[in-house]
Amino acid sequence: MSRDPGTCREPAGSGPRGLQAMPLHDVHTGRLTVLRAAALFDGVSPALMAEPTVVVAGGTIAAVHGPAGPVPAGAHVVDLPRLTLMPGLVDAHLHLCFDASSDPVGHLADTGDDVLRERMAEAARRALRAGVTTVRDLGDRGYLALDVRDQSRAGGLLPAIVAAGPPITSPGGHCHFLGGAASGERALRAAVRERAERGVDVIKVMASGGNMTPGSLAHEPQFSAGSLRAIVDEAHRHGLPVTAHAHSARSIADAVAAGVDGIEHATFMTAGGVDAPGAVIRAIASQRIAVGCTVGRDPGQAGTVMPQIASRMAALIAARRRLYESGAVLVPGSDAGVSPAKPHDVLRFAPGDLAAAGLNPAEIWCAMTSRAAQACGLGHRKGRIAAGFDADVLAIDGNPLKDLAAIRRLRAVYAGGRPVIPAPGSPAGIEVP
Ligand SMILES: [Zn+2]
Repeated sequence: MSRDPGTCREPAGSGPRGLQAMPLHDVHTGRLTVLRAAALFDGVSPALMAEPTVVVAGGTIAAVHGPAGPVPAGAHVVDLPRLTLMPGLVDAHLHLCFDASSDPVGHLADTGDDVLRERMAEAARRALRAGVTTVRDLGDRGYLALDVRDQSRAGGLLPAIVAAGPPITSPGGHCHFLGGAASGERALRAAVRERAERGVDVIKVMASGGNMTPGSLAHEPQFSAGSLRAIVDEAHRHGLPVTAHAHSARSIADAVAAGVDGIEHATFMTAGGVDAPGAVIRAIASQRIAVGCTVGRDPGQAGTVMPQIASRMAALIAARRRLYESGAVLVPGSDAGVSPAKPHDVLRFAPGDLAAAGLNPAEIWCAMTSRAAQACGLGHRKGRIAAGFDADVLAIDGNPLKDLAAIRRLRAVYAGGRPVIPAPGSPAGIEVP
């Protein structure tokens, strides 16, 4: 089995509805902005478009044209003749509440909600300044990520935020200190209902132990297959997807059997190493379960890999490569916040990890934009530069298909059409009505 080389196709019907038809002639009075650049990566195509013209109306992309595309009368033109445009990045797994220190759990315990909320917003802004225009928070305390999400929705200059609230875990289990411990089918279903009522976007369950919780073993399950089934059933009943943190090989198999929508980490750990059965890998691929690949490390912090990961690293990379080769849906997420190697803007160091799994450059950028947006439930308006999508646009110096490090030569960032880092020579940036 092999995937289509070099493409990152969108599923049928994933495009936005009702927005493509915005006619250029409808818009006057300086509300239109045109970005012209040397090249464009649109989030799905395996090749760059040369000399694109991107028309932005308010916070939305109104049209994308090739060389010498029409410029609507009266439009504000931003010329970026040496730069490449691409969609804003999507980090499908981070934790705004962890401070990327050597003791994020201790610091969290010492921080009250009001201060924490401000720090979480600043963490989100740090990601945004590095070109991450959408983030999915997969574990907070007290539903505070939903508060930051609300600030973003109310117009704060923040990334778009998708949030799980406190992850569901076992009593004393991985990240129990975030407040999401429950056990038994009745309590687990109630925990899902509480999250649905609070307005989360996704249910996160800690199916196995994890590396940052004392007393928790990553290679051991925390929940039975039956408990996972109850969580998935209750979540789907409320229209919510479930993604399961799972290092343990057995937990991964149980989560797949339970019908989860995503698996985070997916390291297939056993007590002695790594064991990724072919049947489970094939099921992950055929069920189109999103595999949250934990990627990106600050290279200045290279010495801080946890020993239980370091000893398994070669086998972990081999398992990820097999997932890729089987056609599984790989979705990058940084797990930012959990350690000094994981600051909230670390996603820009992720491409090399995806290359090690076998992805070619076009697949890497698809995964980090349109595919991650789909995994976050925002595939209809994030992760692509196309008519009707949000104007989350980066301008980078270089060809990302030839040089993965070009993402770290960021020259402009726009979020919903608003300048986070204005384009060179264009202090006004894209105007918003
Ligand atoms: Zn995490």
